[in-house]
Amino acid sequence: MVWPMVWMLLVPLYAQAFKENHQTLITPIQAQAIVDEILKTVPLFDGHNDLPWQMRKRFKNQLSKIDLNKDTSDLKPIMHTDLPRLRKGGVQAQFWSVYVPFYSPAESFLATVEQIDVVKRLVKQYHNDLALATSADEVESIHKAGKIASLIGMEGGHSMGHSLAALRQLYDLGARYMTLTHNQTHLWADAAADQSKHQGLSTFGEQVVLEMNRLGMIVDLSHTSEDTMKDALTISKAPVIFSHSAPKAVCQPHRNASDDVLQMLKKNQGVMMVIFLPSFLNCQRRDWEKAKEKINTTEQAQWLINHPMPKVGMSDVIAHIDHIRQLIGIDHIALGGDFDGMQESPDGLDDVSGYRALLVALILHGYSRAEIEKIVGRNLLRVMRAVEIQRDLMKSIQEDESFGLSSPWGH
Ligand SMILES: [Zn+2]
Repeated sequence: MVWPMVWMLLVPLYAQAFKENHQTLITPIQAQAIVDEILKTVPLFDGHNDLPWQMRKRFKNQLSKIDLNKDTSDLKPIMHTDLPRLRKGGVQAQFWSVYVPFYSPAESFLATVEQIDVVKRLVKQYHNDLALATSADEVESIHKAGKIASLIGMEGGHSMGHSLAALRQLYDLGARYMTLTHNQTHLWADAAADQSKHQGLSTFGEQVVLEMNRLGMIVDLSHTSEDTMKDALTISKAPVIFSHSAPKAVCQPHRNASDDVLQMLKKNQGVMMVIFLPSFLNCQRRDWEKAKEKINTTEQAQWLINHPMPKVGMSDVIAHIDHIRQLIGIDHIALGGDFDGMQESPDGLDDVSGYRALLVALILHGYSRAEIEKIVGRNLLRVMRAVEIQRDLMKSIQEDESFGLSSPWGH
């Protein structure tokens, strides 16, 4: 009777030793093969890409002005996204940001609708590669069909013009997340980069979160203040995301999330989609960028000789992923690069073609296949399904009949 018991104790130890040994023996070529296998099974999500804003800024949303079937990397200023590079990077489920920098309710709502229109026209024009997705099931079936699931994310509560009625209609147009603020504090939520007016969410802000739960729209906390993050994490009945953020513990720019917030995110079963913006990942780089801003243009050339730009690479992204895993676990990590919303990107992650290389680096760093599958897409699919289940649970609750904050007929 003794021997079987000893074996029962030893087997897990052997399994662990084998696993560790196995990890260290993986070659880059083998890691690449594992990544290719993973991407056949699980769609690779990215939480935030600003291609729609580039279309508006550069081409007034005229699709005829650019061919995204071709590599566009020679454009100036740099563009990070096109179909060949998305395919190379293995991106299979992209939240396209319909960000607009207008803040009067009518203007921001109108421009957001125009940006949703350009996403839909892109999907139509490039239908061999893209397909619109509004649910987890749709993402999975589009992935099976070999196309890139295209989801719509709104970046800032200003997009709904502070009107619950408008929010509902934006959901019907296909928007599946809303970041509660961009860089400006607005009528109902505080932003990380601005003054606090509400100590987080106002009463109406709380109502917005519950309405998003009722509709089945994901609450996104990137860009929001710490108090807004905590309020939303307390109030939301469904898991939330950070569509493009990083943990503060590794580097502390204004809008990364503290360990307190990450602990709340764990409890909420939400996910942080890790951003690649160099100044958010690496404090030396952030300090260098801040110092550079203060140097006038005539002195800049000399200053740059004496102060070379601190390099930021894939290891910085991995350090942030490691921190989240160590603090709250692998179930709360995904990727949200912010391509075409940043000017500089980390070495090795120069554009949307870099995701596969990052996944290979994570495997060589010791992440298992099951862990990579979660980072790639299983965590996001789980959040999307939980948001959909919560929507179904709240089905019997009627719409709020008030308009919201900005209508002259509202309150
Ligand atoms: Zn952003």
